[in-house]
This record gives sequence, C-alpha cells and structure tokens, in this order.
Amino acid sequence: MALLPIITAPDPRLRVKSEPVETVDDDLRTLMDDMLQTMYDAPGVGLSAIQVGVAKRVMVVDCADDREDPQPIYLVNPVIREASDDLRAYEEGCLSLPEQYAEVDRHDRITVDYLDRDGAPQSLEADGLLSTCIQHEMDHFEGILFVDHISALKRAMIMKRLKKAKKLKATG
Ligand code: ZN
Repeated sequence: MALLPIITAPDPRLRVKSEPVETVDDDLRTLMDDMLQTMYDAPGVGLSAIQVGVAKRVMVVDCADDREDPQPIYLVNPVIREASDDLRAYEEGCLSLPEQYAEVDRHDRITVDYLDRDGAPQSLEADGLLSTCIQHEMDHFEGILFVDHISALKRAMIMKRLKKAKKLKATG
C-alpha cells in the first residue's frame, strides 16, 4: 500500500465531476486500499478518489470512534436511495481544506446503495457522523466542497486562509 498526495483547495481538480466505475477490478482495489491508508495517515474519516486526483465515484470512510476497532467501508458508485427530511448540523472539515471547519446541515439519516470492495451490491443505513460523512464525500463526486454549503462571507474567509497557506508552503 502507498500513501497518495492529497489535493488541497483552491485547485481546479477538486471541481471536476467524477465518473461511475464500470468494473471493480484489482486496479480499483489497489486505489481504494491506498486511499484508506492515506485517510488513516492524515488522519481523516472520509476520502473521495478525486481528492487524490482520480475522477471516479469511489470513497472510503471510517467513522468509528477512537475506542472502537477500525470500521473501514469502501463505497463504489454510491447512490442515496432514501434520505430523512430532518437535517442535522455537524461541524465538518475536509482533508482538502486543512484546518478549516464549518457547520453544515445535512440529512440526518440516509439509505445508500453501493458496490463494495468485491463489486458486490450492498445497502447501508447511516445516521449521525457516518451519514454526514457519506454525504460530504458524495459532494466531492460533483465537484462540491463543504464550504459551498455555508455563507459566501464565511466561504471567502476560509478560501483566503487556504490560499495564504498554499503561498507560504510554496515559498518556504
Ligand atoms: Zn472532503
């Protein structure tokens, strides 16, 4: 397994729409394994393929808390089949927007259909952090970042900080 470089905002690659996966093969499994290792190393609770520069509808998530055993989930071509009307606010971050956080409202509970690491159809019901996390990662497939859900003013402040951080990294 290998650690992959994570693309950070602002970067036009994060705005690219991801394509559905046609076959779950060994190349895709290698990508997903590398993504999982990259996510744990960061550390984070979710990562979409576009964040490592691959425009495919693939994500890995693990929302187990520190006291639990790891619970990695690989989701290929996930589709939300059902979503609760009630929303839940959660303070989100993103490995592509390091050290930036904001509260975002999302569906409290969702039912997701997807293919697993072996390409087998699966369905899962998620609530709480896992529900938020899957919706956040699915946004990446559409080129949407969590800051697109907050006020223009807050978004501008966060993007300004990210640009500054990138400049500092580039120069020094
Ligand atoms: Zn993200």
